[in-house]
Amino acid sequence: MGVFETIGTETHESVHFGEDKASGLRAIVAIHSTTLGPSLGGTRFYPYRDEHAALVDVLRLSKGMTYKAAAAGLAQGGGKAVIIGDPAKLANDDLFRAYGRFVDGLAGRYITAEDVGTTVANMEVVATQTSFVSGLPMSNGGSGDPSPATARGVVAAIRAVSDHLWGTDDLHGRRVAIKGVGKVGIALVEMLSARGVELMVADVNEKATDAASRDFGTKVVPVDEIHRIDCDIFSPCALGADLNEISIDQLACAAIVGSANNQLAVDSDAERIAARGILYAPDFVVNAGGIINIAAEIGGYSTEKSDHMVDKIYDNLTEVLAAAADLGISTEEAAKHVAESRIEAARKQGDVL
Ligand code: NAD
Repeated sequence: MGVFETIGTETHESVHFGEDKASGLRAIVAIHSTTLGPSLGGTRFYPYRDEHAALVDVLRLSKGMTYKAAAAGLAQGGGKAVIIGDPAKLANDDLFRAYGRFVDGLAGRYITAEDVGTTVANMEVVATQTSFVSGLPMSNGGSGDPSPATARGVVAAIRAVSDHLWGTDDLHGRRVAIKGVGKVGIALVEMLSARGVELMVADVNEKATDAASRDFGTKVVPVDEIHRIDCDIFSPCALGADLNEISIDQLACAAIVGSANNQLAVDSDAERIAARGILYAPDFVVNAGGIINIAAEIGGYSTEKSDHMVDKIYDNLTEVLAAAADLGISTEEAAKHVAESRIEAARKQGDVL
């Protein structure tokens, strides 16, 4: 399939290709939507099989960012960038300076940040060439590590689900099983244990589970058992596709609320979960704390401002759960519906002005 044909399968506003022969930079920026505001999304640095695979990935990821920002109620659109190559071999300051000039040429229609394969340090180099970069360290006026904000957002989502299912957002005595106690998972453990939640955790990294049980008294469960635990909430905070045809049948929770991206192996798994009478809180609504924290840099960052914005995930998810019930659709469909309605309302307002 040719480049224009591939781009034409989606509804992106524009796609930009940047090359710098001297440093070896080959990058693609996809701007999916700027209806709600400048497009925001990280830069993925990855050894793609070929250019077509990179193009397909950036189109898919940038569209996902539009939904995530809209569902979070941000005045941001969706965009994403990919740099083609192995960061272990190719990443250097010259390449990130060239990348910064490329981003600067888009005149603010795309704001970049770090993602898989890029670091905060790389973004500091990008920031020497453009102001259209976020996710900088706090020492540089930025928002720093997004993981605590992401965990805070998961707590807000768990409170919203608790209110929806049990009529109270008091989590004291609830049982939560967390798969993956990395950066987000361990921050979540700390926040939930402060609210009196009974916690069970699993991780392939023994050091991570040791730290959780030592510092917070969590019970440790084998990795292949954690999703089968009888509990109120199962929280996937490891990798994607944890919810699939096999695991969904084995779940023994009332609800699923976690930070992992792309939790459903396939879209129809949302209906499979609903058929089991389990409430699924859509991942892109639940885990928006990271992007909200980055968006809080715009106009000047403070932790209080970010916390306030992240806590709105409670209202966002409540709206999605109500829409799912009203329309008789899955929570995943309802989240997309809410996001699309916000974009459509902004488009209509723009037409009137
Ligand atoms: P991380 O790499 O720090 O932690 C992931 C943890 O999962 C690690 O401890 C790892 O050992 C564990 N893990 C990996 N495979 C596992 C498996 N099969 N079974 C059990 N444990 C396993 O990553 P993170 O930053 O904590 O992110 C966690 C998830 O949340 C990811 O899916 C990420 O994309 C998503 N997310 C993170 C942020 C953020 O702010 N960091 C924002 C949005 C979404």
